[in-house]
Amino acid sequence: MSERTETESRKLLGRLREVLAESSAGQARLDRITHLIASSMGTEVCSIYLFRDEETLELCATEGLNPESVHQTRLRIGEGLVGRVAKTSRIVNTADAPSAKGFRYMPETGEEIFSSFCGVPIQRLGENLGVLVVQSKEARDFSLDETYALEVVAMVLAEMTELGAFLGDNAAMQARHHQSVMFRGGSAQEGAAEGHVWLHEPRVVVTNPIAEDPEVELQRLHEAVDQLRVGVDKMLDGAAGGDKEQLQVLEAYRMFANSKGWMRRMEHDIAGGLSAEAAVEKEQTTARTRMEQVTDAYLRERLHDLDDLSNRLLRILTGQGSETGAELPTDPILIARNIGPAELLEYGRGLKGIVLEEGSVGSHAAIVARALAIPLVIHADRITTEALNGDHIMVDGDHGTVHLRPDETVVTAFRDKIAMQAQAQQRYASIRDKTATTLDGVTIGLHMNAGLMADLPSLDNSGAEGVGLFRTELQFLIRNQMPKRTELAQLYSRVMDAAHGKRVVFRTLDIGSDKVLPYMAPQEEPNPALGWRAIRVGLDKPGVMRMQLQALLRAANGRPLSVMFPFIAQYEEYTKALEEMEKAKERERVLGHPLPETLEVGAMLETPSLGFAPQKFFEEVGFLSIGGNDLKQFFFAADRENERVRRRYDTLNVSFLTFLEGIVNRCNSTSTKTPLSFCGEDAGRPIEALCLAAMGLRTLSMRPASIGPVKSLLRRSNLSEVRQVIVEARERGDQSVRPAVMDYLRGQS
Ligand code: PEP
Ligand code: MG
Repeated sequence: MSERTETESRKLLGRLREVLAESSAGQARLDRITHLIASSMGTEVCSIYLFRDEETLELCATEGLNPESVHQTRLRIGEGLVGRVAKTSRIVNTADAPSAKGFRYMPETGEEIFSSFCGVPIQRLGENLGVLVVQSKEARDFSLDETYALEVVAMVLAEMTELGAFLGDNAAMQARHHQSVMFRGGSAQEGAAEGHVWLHEPRVVVTNPIAEDPEVELQRLHEAVDQLRVGVDKMLDGAAGGDKEQLQVLEAYRMFANSKGWMRRMEHDIAGGLSAEAAVEKEQTTARTRMEQVTDAYLRERLHDLDDLSNRLLRILTGQGSETGAELPTDPILIARNIGPAELLEYGRGLKGIVLEEGSVGSHAAIVARALAIPLVIHADRITTEALNGDHIMVDGDHGTVHLRPDETVVTAFRDKIAMQAQAQQRYASIRDKTATTLDGVTIGLHMNAGLMADLPSLDNSGAEGVGLFRTELQFLIRNQMPKRTELAQLYSRVMDAAHGKRVVFRTLDIGSDKVLPYMAPQEEPNPALGWRAIRVGLDKPGVMRMQLQALLRAANGRPLSVMFPFIAQYEEYTKALEEMEKAKERERVLGHPLPETLEVGAMLETPSLGFAPQKFFEEVGFLSIGGNDLKQFFFAADRENERVRRRYDTLNVSFLTFLEGIVNRCNSTSTKTPLSFCGEDAGRPIEALCLAAMGLRTLSMRPASIGPVKSLLRRSNLSEVRQVIVEARERGDQSVRPAVMDYLRGQS
């Protein structure tokens, strides 16, 4: 870098610091800044445009353009040269602005006499805040040194905008962080929650973007980077011999932490007048901008790594971060880009709601949120940049919407909804100890789905008769390494203790498809949902399944035990799995451990094929549980994870109900009347549950929170009448029985 740049930008920043230190109001401050930049750069014009909303830029201060146009001139993003800078996040530098692509003449500003134009984005960590522009009459290209100085100033302006330094008299300039914003995302767990924002990774706030003494800042940077490198090395040592993927990520971290180019660019920015943290952020901003433009997945990952590393460095430099000293609010709503299941479990049930920028319905975080019954909204784009710790927030998990800093009307409507839900909960509590017996005397067994120790208290609170599905994979998913047999045995034993003799059906490890263990080599499969998953993995690599079966037998320690195998698609898979169980029993017997008093072994029916298995299978299997989530996706060939198709086919579609009825009939036709239950998400939806019961299902297993609503409807219904409505709809040729059933229910109330 030339001497001139260093002194140019440093001098400019030095003067800027003085202006920022003055206690002037927001507008006066902006005016002083534009004046200062124009005179330092030797240009007639300097203007600052800030975003008024996501789409509109507003001229907020100018030196040289018509002062009357301040707060009057507005541009849409992409419009004119200023809009182009904002849209592309790239500098526009031209000696002949009127001939440049996209030029738009704005008569009110009086800018027609200016020929040269240089605009740089005001951005912070991938967030566009505005545009800084200089213009001059003389036709000249601005030099690299000059554009660099402008970039550095824009960086400082971004920091100051973030801090609200330009907040002031004018309503148009109210900082975005004070406005109410609504986000439309996706629903991953229903429920409504009101509370205050708790950022999983609070944004680091840089309060001193300008260096007082570059030497000191350089030293601070070097010390922080040293500390960072030591930290990364330690992580690498800790991970040695462990998972290959994790090692690869850490190696990439180390590479970046030692990257000379990265270091040189930050040193350059400090020499240009920025503080150490502002220099780190400037690099991070560049990386984020690139990230948005890069489509190559590998490269994006690497840029992500660099972003994470910059965050660590910022935390070291500022002493901020996860341990900011901020107090968790009493009603925290967690906001994060994404979060792992283990981290989510650490927060536990204390959370009122969760909003993620990324995530998916089938992600592990979603599974945990569902298990904890915490409303979860995913794909809330940019919420981590909009929300501040402590902001008032309302989460509507039913519709996938989030209201940040909501205004009065939203607050009132939302609270009404929460109050109605609370009232309903009270009603459900009053029938907790009653059976789910319909008006015509049919009793349906309502059980709950679980997967964590933390779920067990719900067994009593919800009035569930038992645990109809215990998803054992959660224990595998939330760890960084394969759990040990003794660990699992202890856990299963505690689950049985907590169930106080109520039946718990343990499902053996169901991995693959969307559930990928962090410590198992990922499989490159063209279609994982149809791939190597669940029992297929268990039978091909029986080591883990054997270990798990032994852990279950040992945990039972003589008590009754129920185990089912997931995703059985044909008879032989069941017999093979059963053989494994026999072997496990034999091993336990030889070792002198007591065997369960009774052992029920069942299968999950999750593929249509099993519905057509030989009669012998239905005779032999201990019990069957319909995994409706998977069964439905295969029945309709519609991916349960794909937002585009997952709601396309109704569970109450006549074909699906008829198929289920067929399975009921097959179970009822055996000599033992094979016990059958349904444990997919649909069991927890009252109308669906009612129709399942009408089709002959007598046991349903669902999320604990659904037991009240389902029981309430069943107790008010006449099952044979509902069945009649369904039969008539089918005879009429209706596609789904839903409209007819809804009509009937409306007539009843
Ligand atoms: C199902 O498929 O319905 C089921 C209960 O299993 P999971 O949702 O865990 O795949
Ligand atoms: Mg399933």
